[in-house]
Amino acid sequence: TDGTPGWLKLPGLAQLGPAFFTALRPTPLSQPHWIARNADVARLAGIDPQWLQSEEALVILSGSTVAEGTQPVATVYSGHQFGVWAGQLGDGRAILLGETRGGQEIQLKGSGRTPYSRMGDGRAVLRSSIREYLCSEAMHGLGIPTTRAMALIGSPDAVYREQPETAAVVARVAPSFIRFGHFEHFSARGDEASLRKLADHVIDRFYPECRSGEAFEGNAYAQLLHAVSERTAALLAQWQAVGFCHGVMNTDNMSILGLTIDYGPFQFLDAYVPGHICNHSDNRGRYAFDQQPSVAYWNLLCLAQALLPLIGKEETARAALESYPPAFAREFKLRMAAKMGLPSRAAESEAFVQVLQSLFDLMAQDAVDYTIFWRRLSHAANATGSEAPSAQFAPVRDLFLQRELADSWLDRYRELLAQHADPAACKAMLRVNPRFVLRNHLGEMAIRAASQGDFSLVNTLQDILTTPFDEHPGHDSLADFPPDWASHISISCSS
Ligand code: AMP
Ligand code: MG
Ligand code: MG
Repeated sequence: TDGTPGWLKLPGLAQLGPAFFTALRPTPLSQPHWIARNADVARLAGIDPQWLQSEEALVILSGSTVAEGTQPVATVYSGHQFGVWAGQLGDGRAILLGETRGGQEIQLKGSGRTPYSRMGDGRAVLRSSIREYLCSEAMHGLGIPTTRAMALIGSPDAVYREQPETAAVVARVAPSFIRFGHFEHFSARGDEASLRKLADHVIDRFYPECRSGEAFEGNAYAQLLHAVSERTAALLAQWQAVGFCHGVMNTDNMSILGLTIDYGPFQFLDAYVPGHICNHSDNRGRYAFDQQPSVAYWNLLCLAQALLPLIGKEETARAALESYPPAFAREFKLRMAAKMGLPSRAAESEAFVQVLQSLFDLMAQDAVDYTIFWRRLSHAANATGSEAPSAQFAPVRDLFLQRELADSWLDRYRELLAQHADPAACKAMLRVNPRFVLRNHLGEMAIRAASQGDFSLVNTLQDILTTPFDEHPGHDSLADFPPDWASHISISCSS
């Protein structure tokens, strides 16, 4: 079975030597119980999904037992938090169990104290664990690069935040959990040998093309920086296009693989509010929705700074980063063109950019629901039948307060659509504009039920969010506008 000795090897980072990690054991939770499991992720990791039904899986993934022949570790990193150098951080409540045969690492989040816990208890509460579990699968369902979630396990053990709550562990999975902060750590300490080992490991394992490429005079580290910035640009374009706000884009929460990582106070936009701040502790709005693309660039500058000893010349590092703004702009316009049912060649046209900008202005003025707008537009653009266009697009128009402005925008949009006349792109709207996203109130409803011992909504949401472009008849309420109480949900970093 999958629990046999040797099924997990030491994760790549820990193979680099003791400077990178501390070996330790998770702290057991009492009476661990399954809340949700994910056969798809088990398969991805090369694990027989049947194993997730076993008692052995429950004790290993809850951290009660260490599988024979394996060595869990916590890794050390540093980072900039809210724009300020925070010094040493590290896996304060996450423990890497190892790397599976499928080349995926398994990490338990909430599995107890580590040498990097600082003042924290090393635990995660049920509430935040449900959010991470569901959102990582929702992101995957949307086609957005992310860490995955294989299991969610609860326990009656008390964890104290603003009030007493109960503990949970998410078993999460990724090819690597290496962050920008891992590089910043060794660079800030002036440990160039470790910095080089880390960079070489990441290149060999995940960016082998950087070794052989000719860009930047064959400088592999500059090529790595460039490749990471391209992936980050593509990731941010996807976040912005779908209306995802991460909430804590500290450099230690930035994946070197360009994955969405560390789900905390994230939020999918309900109404389109460009300056929306989803993290209750983010007083200045550093991580507001519309700030994300430039914050990612700032974070890449930190990574560049960290890599500078390896890259050599500052101008080479600069050149490696330079393409981030245009790469983001290009990717974002492509995503938005697809959302409008237009072919990629439309994305560079002046007419498209103008239509897009006036849409954003109008949606912001009228606080239009972002997800519902795109889904209704997709249906309207694909409506067949004899109805006049104005009737076809009435459900879209109804979302706006300024109906006349909406009408004139729709006229311009239809012109663009007719001009490009691309039936495949139009049809594809229903595969790029989701019907379902993990809105805050849906997560909250699942959390409330789960705290009463009812995990059915967690499981239903997992099922639906994995295939968010399907209609899922019978689940209309999960695709509906948020209720009034949704705007009062307050979510902060402490979870
Ligand atoms: P975050 O911003 O949530 O990704 O966490 C920033 C740092 O704080 C990381 O080093 C985490 O491991 C650590 N941390 C967050 N919550 C806890 C906790 N409850 N116990 C220990 N460390 C924590
Ligand atoms: Mg983090
Ligand atoms: Mg289904």
